[in-house]
Order: sequence, then C-alpha cells, then structure tokens
Amino acid sequence: MSSRRKFIKNTTLTTAAVSLTGLGAKAFGLPKQKETSPLVISTWDHGLAANVAAWKIIEGGGKAIDAVEAGVRVPEADPESTSVGYGGLPDRDGNVTLDACIMDETGNCGSVSVLRHIKHPVSVARKVMDETPHVILSGAGALQFALSKGFKKENLLTLKARTAWEAWKKEARYEPVINIENHDTIGMLAIDQKGDISGACTTSGLAFKMQGRVGDSPIIGAGLFCDNEVGGAVATGLGEAVLKTLGTFLVVELMRNGAKPQEACEEAVNRIIRKQVYEDFQIGYLAIDKAGNHGSYCIHKGFNYALMKNGSNQLIDSSYHME
Ligand code: ASP
Repeated sequence: MSSRRKFIKNTTLTTAAVSLTGLGAKAFGLPKQKETSPLVISTWDHGLAANVAAWKIIEGGGKAIDAVEAGVRVPEADPESTSVGYGGLPDRDGNVTLDACIMDETGNCGSVSVLRHIKHPVSVARKVMDETPHVILSGAGALQFALSKGFKKENLLTLKARTAWEAWKKEARYEPVINIENHDTIGMLAIDQKGDISGACTTSGLAFKMQGRVGDSPIIGAGLFCDNEVGGAVATGLGEAVLKTLGTFLVVELMRNGAKPQEACEEAVNRIIRKQVYEDFQIGYLAIDKAGNHGSYCIHKGFNYALMKNGSNQLIDSSYHME
C-alpha cells in the first residue's frame, strides 16, 4: 500500500490520538509536550541570508512574527533576486507589482496584492494586520495606505529586470504557465523561544503576468497559513494551482488531523497532481509542526529550502514527485 493511502487509512485513528495528546492533554493530566527548540525555515537558496536576519531576532528572544518580517525583507531589498521585491520581473506592461502576506501566532494576518513602488510589501502587509481592521489591501488602495504610513515611493524596475522584459517583449508570447526554473517566492516560517509560530510570504509573482494578476502568495491559506496549535506551511510555484486547492490551509489541516509535515506536503502536492495537468509547472510546499518537525515536497526535482536550527543554517533539497 502506498504511504499516501496508508496515511489516509490511518487518519481517523490518528485524529483520535491527536485530540488526546493535544487539546485533551490538560484534561487527562498528560505530561506537557516537550519544549520545541526555535527554528527558521524558508524557501529557495535566498532563504539562507533571510534566515540569518530572522535568526538574530529569535536568538535575542524576539517574536517569530518580527523574525519572519525581518527575514523576508532581505530578498525583498536584493536587486539580484528577480522574483521578490526590488528587482522583481515586471508584468507584461512593465510594472513591477508585488504580493505579500504575514500571519502571527494569534491567527492575525495582513496582506497586500498588486502593490507598486514599495520595496518592502511584507512590512505594508504587517501594517495592514496591525493598524487596520482589514486583511487584504490591493492595488492603488494598498499604495495609498503604504504612503500614508510613511513608506517611500521608489522605482522597483532595475536595469536587469527591464532588459529581461525588453527581451520577452520581442516575442511577447503570453504563457501563464510557470517555468520550472523561474519562480522563487520567499515563504518563511519561524518558531520563537516561546514556541510561537508565525510566517510570511513575499513575491513579484509570475514574470510578465497579465496586469492585475494576483497569485497565491498574498492569499492566506494559499501561499501561507499558520495555526499556533498545529504548525505552518508556505507555498511556491504556480500560484493558480495552489489557489485552486488552498494548499497551505490544506497542509495545516492535514497536520491537525495527524499527518506529519512531510506527509501533509506530499498529500497537498498529490491533490494537485490528481486534478490538474501538472507536468509543465512546479509547486513546492514547506511545512513545520508545533513540535519543530519539518517536511517539504514538490512536483519537479529542483526545489530547495534553508533551515536554521541550533546555530546551523543549511540548504536542503526537497523530495519530489518527478525528475
Ligand atoms: N507563487 C508565486 C505566484 O504564483 C510564484 C512563485 O512562487 O515564484 O505568484
């Protein structure tokens, strides 16, 4: 029996066990869960530098929510990173439009989509979370809000990105299918010294997308989801496929029902594979549980992630469905 089928078969049993050791723990006087050691985990190799910035905050006793914001700001500011923040590849009309979201240990969250001219969309998303009654601000409204909060209006289209766009325009073939090599959203999850979990996700989205296109990355439950009782998950790859399955919400719910982070990521990828023509696009999921276990799975070989734990920061190749 495949491990996935075994997992589905065992889910009911495990659910009962989980509710006993989780919510029921106090009522039955079970021993408290062993303390989790803090960690930071993030997608792709730009996660290595991002983890270092996040880890500084965790190490100093700071909160996971501050750590993930500080962490993903690193690739947002890096002009060499052509899929996040400043230097991101533009839409088909030459506008750099950014999507980002953030979620804390209480379930609060904030998000911006189609945000132009602001280098750090994750920090605008944080302000949406902290300083408005809303979850998502989009487009002109998101920009107006950012400016009102003192963010600086900047030109985000670097020479490198403009040159790539000019080259793309020569043929201007509109293929809203993500190239297997061409996607690098940063999604980050952290557990702080208190054991609290938060996450953030930020991207310039699909290169040369239609103007106004919103991917999975600013949508809570698609690009990012955290539940402090269970764990968290982030996604990268073709946002449309993640949106159709609410991928990270699915991963966290599977963990809530007893799946390990690895099993949950595999099942979320399998959900896409069963329903969509998946050969030409990439999806990668990364998840942690409350105990600090992690897992990841992707469609095509090539997705990797950075894990910072116990003072070591390493890049790890994800397991995958196909070469
Ligand atoms: N998920 C992102 C999007 O569809 C792309 C990526 O991961 O790079 O906008």
